[in-house]
Amino acid sequence: MIRRSFLAALAIAAALPLTAWAEAPLKVVATTGMIADAARQVGGDQVEVKGLMGPGVDPHAYRQTRSDIVAMTRADLILWHGLYLEAQMEGFFHDLGRKRAVVAVAEGIDTSKLHAHDDYADKYDPHVWMSPALWRDVVVEVQDALTEARPDAADIFAANAQAHLAEIEQLEAYAGQALASVPENNRVLVTAHDAFGYFGAAYGYEVMGIQGISTQSEAGLNRIGELVDTLVDKQLKAVFVESSVSDRSMRALIEGAAAKGHDVGVGGELYSDAMGEPGTYEGTYIGMLDHNITVIAGALGADVPDRGMNGKLSAGF
Ligand SMILES: [Zn+2]
Repeated sequence: MIRRSFLAALAIAAALPLTAWAEAPLKVVATTGMIADAARQVGGDQVEVKGLMGPGVDPHAYRQTRSDIVAMTRADLILWHGLYLEAQMEGFFHDLGRKRAVVAVAEGIDTSKLHAHDDYADKYDPHVWMSPALWRDVVVEVQDALTEARPDAADIFAANAQAHLAEIEQLEAYAGQALASVPENNRVLVTAHDAFGYFGAAYGYEVMGIQGISTQSEAGLNRIGELVDTLVDKQLKAVFVESSVSDRSMRALIEGAAAKGHDVGVGGELYSDAMGEPGTYEGTYIGMLDHNITVIAGALGADVPDRGMNGKLSAGF
């Protein structure tokens, strides 16, 4: 009797840490909001995700704060974008990767699908979230990283990833339809920086940024002059501001066109490198792209649903 209860107690003691481990969510830290969203979609209730960069934060310029470092030292898994997006944190993550589970999720994409970087000969354009097809590759990378960190939950991660990938395919279909209904001459996207290269390539739009692929490059007066001429020549009616970049250069562009007798308006604010407020539809990857697609197509002359593909946009076109 004594022996039996002793064995039972041993069995309980042995089982306890396992149970506790299985129930505690995996602590994940992600740099951009888009990666944090992918980790939440795929991880579900198995993960607790902290995103470092909130709405309006520019990842090209971001540096880790003291509290970010604390969160990362407590994390089970750290996901960053890579492809030189977090240019100021590159060295930090390479060092951290020697001690902790750190994955650059966009670096798993086959480089044949990537565009060259305009500023650096040996680098690629990091703005892959702008193409739903490329983002599906990133979601699979996130799934792989979570599965490696918690193999017991592989089936849950696989099912969640399937569901999210299907949503992204639906988004792709909406984007194709909405953007193809813009009159052909209007398919030009003028934005604050070159974040829309993959978007333009996917949907047949010419894209022009005042600044280059990184917001760290200065917008020269020459560049603004060139863009003013393009706006006038093509008689473009709308340009777009970005939530994570100052609109100062964009105002100079609009004034420059006005001085040449051409009226250009702001077609809307796009989410280029950061999502909307947490807890809103625009604060998810699907909502962020739905917003961009709906605002761009609407401002450039297509007939789009007011509240986007799901009727969920808070301020659609
Ligand atoms: Zn950018």
